[in-house]
Amino acid sequence: MKTLPSLFVSHGSPMLARDAGRTGVAWQQLAADLPRPRAILMLSAHWLTRQPMVNSSSAPETIHDFGGFPPDLHTLHYPALGAPWLAEQVSTLLDAAGLPTTRHPNHGLDHGAWVPLRNMYPAADIPVVQLSLQPHLGPAHHYRLGQTLAPLRDEGILIIGSGSLTHNLMDVIWNAGDDESAVPTYVREFQGWMHEKLQAGDLSALLDYRQQAPHAQRAHPSEEHLLPLFGSMGAATGKPVQRHFAGITEGVLAMDIYSFGETI
Ligand code: ZN
Repeated sequence: MKTLPSLFVSHGSPMLARDAGRTGVAWQQLAADLPRPRAILMLSAHWLTRQPMVNSSSAPETIHDFGGFPPDLHTLHYPALGAPWLAEQVSTLLDAAGLPTTRHPNHGLDHGAWVPLRNMYPAADIPVVQLSLQPHLGPAHHYRLGQTLAPLRDEGILIIGSGSLTHNLMDVIWNAGDDESAVPTYVREFQGWMHEKLQAGDLSALLDYRQQAPHAQRAHPSEEHLLPLFGSMGAATGKPVQRHFAGITEGVLAMDIYSFGETI
């Protein structure tokens, strides 16, 4: 079985469920270039808990965890099966590392998970499990979660962190789509700093991004959308980094896609 890289994807606004534009093309290409995973483990910015939880449902429902969007988005579903066996493996690995993890029997898939997956694997024929984030514990905790789960990559499990490289909803220009004519400087500068440090493998700077990166507070007023990146990094510690996409949607949401580990 081929070892898989880990991924970070930016999922953008729920509107990407209807039309993901250039990001969707990049998601589709990424999936086409990867070996087929046995199952997918998603770390999404939209499932936040005090301690790690993993969903062990055999048929997770599609959660429409957004409001104020066109009704047709609520008719979209992603009917992938769950993988209780993977949920058990995840909780066993994390428990053994001193990160007690609860299995949730009926938690579904939030839009951070299913919007990219509908583009990457539209047949929904690969089982999906989600692991929650702990926003109060910051980047180092999520890096450690990823490190602990790294062995799963050797077993055909695709670990995906789903968030956003920049995420300030106060600055969003709704319906700007892929139009990048008015992207503010802070978005480009934060995006550029992150890319430079990721390429350099400068872990200490990345874990301290909130102090060191330009405009970190504005790019992430709260940091839950960047935390999945640290999980993905941790899952392939010290391995090469590739950037597959760096577009901007809705005026300010950097949609960067990264892979860590095996070259795609
Ligand atoms: Zn989101």
